Amino acid sequence: MNIILLGPPGAGKGTQAERLVAERGMIQLSTGDMLREAKTSGTEMGKRVAEVMDRGDLVTDEIVIGLIREKITGGEGSGKGFIFDGFPRTLAQADALGALLEETGQTLDHVIELQVDDEVLVGRIVGRAEAAAAAGQPVRADDNEESLKIRLMEYYKKTSPLTGYYYAKGDLKGVDGLGEIDQVASDVAAIL
Ligand code: AMP
Repeated sequence: MNIILLGPPGAGKGTQAERLVAERGMIQLSTGDMLREAKTSGTEMGKRVAEVMDRGDLVTDEIVIGLIREKITGGEGSGKGFIFDGFPRTLAQADALGALLEETGQTLDHVIELQVDDEVLVGRIVGRAEAAAAAGQPVRADDNEESLKIRLMEYYKKTSPLTGYYYAKGDLKGVDGLGEIDQVASDVAAIL
């Protein structure tokens, strides 16, 4: 079973993906994590995307589609299924994912939108940065107010049309992302 977790930054996609990995043995494919890894390991691509990411803009479709293609066709298998977390983020990426899955004889089973209020999002992200700083952990370079504004705008301009896209395909399910983590997880489980 392959699923997409859709929703703005701070909606809880990563948190819910981790639960699904632990509880169901699914494989989390987070393009954000892959890009941050490339950034820290200082690969050519990592250097190219660093500034764009820190600013809060989206990196090019070509780069992220390439990363996902590698994972899907890389022969590592799909375990109990893929969780696409933070991908797709544009209509071009959504089309590319559809083609990749078809090419590899796989299906997309559910697109789950984590629905949250904008005010709450901003609070969560600021909270995430403060908690990391207080614990002496590294704060994400894009977890600051300025980058957050750009990330939200990128979401509304480029990613939010995907809810219409997947609704029209008949794949979209909505979950209230404002509840406790356990509640959201059980709503997600009910869909799966
Ligand atoms: P995330 O961890 O999902 O919030 O992603 C962090 C940053 O990585 C985003 O703000 C973008 O700069 C970049 N990024 C992650 N996934 C994508 C994607 N699918 N398309 C374009 N940029 C992405």
